[in-house]
Amino acid sequence: MSYDLHTHSEVSDGTEPPAQVVAAAARAGLRGLALTDHDTTVGWEQARAAAREHGLLFIPGAEITTKTSAGTSVHMLSYLHDPQHPGLAAANSAARSGRVQRAKRIVANLAEDFEISWADVLTHVGPETTVGRPHIADALVTTGVVADRSEAFTHYLHKGSKYYVPQDTMTPVEAITLIRQAGGVPVIAHAMASRRGSTVSLAELEEMVQAGLAGVEVYHRDNTAEGKELLLDLARRRDLIVTGSSDYHGTGKPNRLGENTTDAEMVLRILQQGTGTEALGGPPAV
Ligand code: AMP
Ligand code: ZN
Ligand code: FE
Ligand code: FE
Repeated sequence: MSYDLHTHSEVSDGTEPPAQVVAAAARAGLRGLALTDHDTTVGWEQARAAAREHGLLFIPGAEITTKTSAGTSVHMLSYLHDPQHPGLAAANSAARSGRVQRAKRIVANLAEDFEISWADVLTHVGPETTVGRPHIADALVTTGVVADRSEAFTHYLHKGSKYYVPQDTMTPVEAITLIRQAGGVPVIAHAMASRRGSTVSLAELEEMVQAGLAGVEVYHRDNTAEGKELLLDLARRRDLIVTGSSDYHGTGKPNRLGENTTDAEMVLRILQQGTGTEALGGPPAV
């Protein structure tokens, strides 16, 4: 009875088409999954069709790029929002274009020291793909600078790197507001992933709850043990949804489908709150 609510396909920085992610979820023995590509919903249709074929529950989602006023990067998962909601669709479209400009700047920085061009990155990017640092990592692999994406992040693409350029985006509170307006269910992703950089404070989390945050992704490999406790405590006090997920990226990351999962009861709460689009498959038996 398990569900994986955070996965990526090649319409962002995963390495497989959406249908293949769904097929892999079925093979992994999952009952259902959410597809949560970065700042896009273009994978939904293909994933929905594949989920129908495999008899899985499919929850359409996205992982929205945000940054607090203090500059901390926050990834906001959204489930079941209306993909055509004008405000949210415009914000996602702006985030995708902003990502291209930012990735070009990172590549320009790298080009001062390495034989790498924007064209090298584009060979790893599909026509509708949301561009991210993992695609720059792929170019560093094919040009022979590093062996894999992980090495590229460790040496050249992490936040402290001299090549790094941050992304301009909306704040988590703005994203939560838009997601709710679009009928979606906002759940903060890997909020306590301290190895990725600075993390949000409890006060900032409380502010997000005030703004309509529905849940917290507690069980994620990048959250620290103490961070999980803090999130669980917040969830208990504020009656939030608690999720667990893999953040699967195909072969782009070691994360395996189903390595963390979400209970049926929590899936049901997401289905009950989400009104912007339909999930595929009946509600899970709790
Ligand atoms: P960006 O969206 O451009 O800021 O890039 C962040 C993405 O890179 C996230 O979705 C991560 O999944 C991915 N990422 C972060 N660290 C690593 C790593 N060490 N190896 C592979 N992918 C990573
Ligand atoms: Zn990613
Ligand atoms: Fe993320
Ligand atoms: Fe993710």
